[in-house]
Amino acid sequence: MPVLVSACLLGFPCRHDGADKRDARVLQRLQGEEIVPVCPEVAGGLPVPRAAAWLDGSRVIDASGGEVTAQFEAGALAAVAAARQHEATLAILKQNSPSCGTRMTGTSHGRAPGRGRAAQALAKAGLQLLAEDDP
Ligand code: SF4
Repeated sequence: MPVLVSACLLGFPCRHDGADKRDARVLQRLQGEEIVPVCPEVAGGLPVPRAAAWLDGSRVIDASGGEVTAQFEAGALAAVAAARQHEATLAILKQNSPSCGTRMTGTSHGRAPGRGRAAQALAKAGLQLLAEDDP
């Protein structure tokens, strides 16, 4: 079955700072699998580079003080749409991200337990979630 994957884990330079988070463990795990790359923040309309952002209650705020909740929500919907289009049932997502974090996310108080916006939406849509550091 196709696997939805945070694009930065595959080597796409889509992080807020223009870097990637290529992860050899993920690439190894995905050998032979059909891959559906997605960067929810870019899919939601945010540029690269962009200000770092974090969850602040129900809102998403970036380092310049701007609100990017709508872009994060749009990106979460885009990730779910990509999963449905490709019939993916598993997502491998970047831990600690306010979009992609599966157990830990970024908040205004630093890293905290919880899911990012896209991870929440994908779980609600029924996908199994793994992070790059899951066995
Ligand atoms: Fe990676 Fe997800 Fe952040 Fe995009 S939104 S850079 S895929 S962690």
